[in-house]
Amino acid sequence: MWHTYLRPKTVEEALQMLAEAGEAAVLIAGGTDLMLDLQQGRHPPVQALVDITEIPELRALEIRGDELFVGAGVPLNRVAASPLVREHAMALAEATSQMAGYQIRNVATLGGNVAHALPAADGAIALLALDARAEVASPHGRRRVPLADLYLGPGRSALKHEEMLVGFWLPLTRQKAASAFRRVMRPQGVALPILNTAVWLAREGDRIAQIRIAVGPFGPVPRRATAAESVLCGHAPDEATLNAAVEALLREARFRTSRYRATETYRRHLAGILLRETVGKAWQRAGGE
Ligand SMILES: Cc1cc2nc3c(=O)[nH]c(=O)nc-3n(C[C@H](O)[C@H](O)[C@H](O)COP(=O)(O)OP(=O)(O)OC[C@H]3O[C@@H](n4cnc5c(N)ncnc54)[C@H](O)[C@@H]3O)c2cc1C
Repeated sequence: MWHTYLRPKTVEEALQMLAEAGEAAVLIAGGTDLMLDLQQGRHPPVQALVDITEIPELRALEIRGDELFVGAGVPLNRVAASPLVREHAMALAEATSQMAGYQIRNVATLGGNVAHALPAADGAIALLALDARAEVASPHGRRRVPLADLYLGPGRSALKHEEMLVGFWLPLTRQKAASAFRRVMRPQGVALPILNTAVWLAREGDRIAQIRIAVGPFGPVPRRATAAESVLCGHAPDEATLNAAVEALLREARFRTSRYRATETYRRHLAGILLRETVGKAWQRAGGE
């Protein structure tokens, strides 16, 4: 499926290889999406694969200043088991620990999950709710991009061919704030979920002071459920408010029937259940009754 396999040791070296080879070269991390896409003809043929798994910068997972940095090349199992991720980004720990099977999680990376740009990608949905910024490297320098700006459509990332994800910057957790992630899979499934939901919220007394909700698949690209956020913000998560939030979420959602996963009707049914569960869990973790 390729002729040349390249192993850069730095981000700059990888960018140079991409620039030199042009469209004939593509980045590969765990290969769990890319190999299937190449094999099944969903990706145009390539000449060279640029393997980014030996770049130390992409494997970093640490606190930097007042943020948590998770390298784009960190395998999912390492993200899931990291005490730092569990402390500051529980929704991400929960998402990565449920993705695929154990062997896939040993090689699949968070950067690959985001760059593949599927609207229900579990890692991307958790990162959205956690307000992550992606660090993007290009031949012209580096920039930080809100996660939502990385998408053009289903399977279409806004990253240019000569660009790459270096990692994700997440705010550290603070008092009375917490996150949660839930998803529903087909019982025999190991691939994308029927539906997932990630919630981050901050509590003030018995009210939700701030909230971010991401649901996948919610539309053609990973995005937040802002109408439901508006209903919940400033209120206690009681029955009436949660009912109104579910209604708002369903009005905004663009669910569709998928041949392999579920009908639109079933997804609408699950959306309310997952929203209640994730808001409830995050609220509890933030110290709410
Ligand atoms: C059996 C199975 C089960 C799965 N289950 C799930 C699941 O439950 N939930 C889920 O969300 N996904 C699932 N996936 C999809 C896949 O495993 C994940 O999306 C994974 O995180 C992809 O990471 P990767 O490192 O393997 O990416 P790769 O396949 O290496 O790359 C994917 C794409 O991203 C690009 N890319 C990779 N790294 C970068 C980077 N740093 N910068 C820019 N572009 C980059 C590549 O060029 C390619 O286009 C499953 C896949 C399989 C095969």
